[in-house]
Amino acid sequence: MTKIEKTLENKSVRPTAMRILIYKYMAEKKIAVAMTDIENVFEKAERTTLYRTLKTFEEKGIVHQIDDGTNISKFALCELGCSCELDQDLHLHFHCSNCNETVCLTEHKIPHINLPEGYIAEEANLVLKGICDKCSGH
Ligand SMILES: [Zn+2]
Ligand SMILES: [Zn+2]
Ligand SMILES: [Zn+2]
Repeated sequence: MTKIEKTLENKSVRPTAMRILIYKYMAEKKIAVAMTDIENVFEKAERTTLYRTLKTFEEKGIVHQIDDGTNISKFALCELGCSCELDQDLHLHFHCSNCNETVCLTEHKIPHINLPEGYIAEEANLVLKGICDKCSGH
């Protein structure tokens, strides 16, 4: 069994060929990808299959969705051991306004925020905008 197959099985996702391919693509890409990116890469696959694969990944905590303010939902692989619960895998995201790429800053966690009484947070989406390391030349 390959590492990817194991990762999928650990998350109770049957490692079908399509799922393995999409996982591999996302792992190699290293930046958040939009549905259209995946559609372009897997041209021959049915759109609904691709969409359902991502939905399954999201439900099982394999990927998380990022709203980077571009009106296009992007997806990135979750960290190991993430179950996509609030206060667990909440890291910062960075959107570069020059190359338009969005990355997970997994080392940088969103600090716990004490909300006023009666407020219940269900998701958090913290996206910093600016110039990424590639574009700034550092
Ligand atoms: Zn996650
Ligand atoms: Zn950039
Ligand atoms: Zn992320």
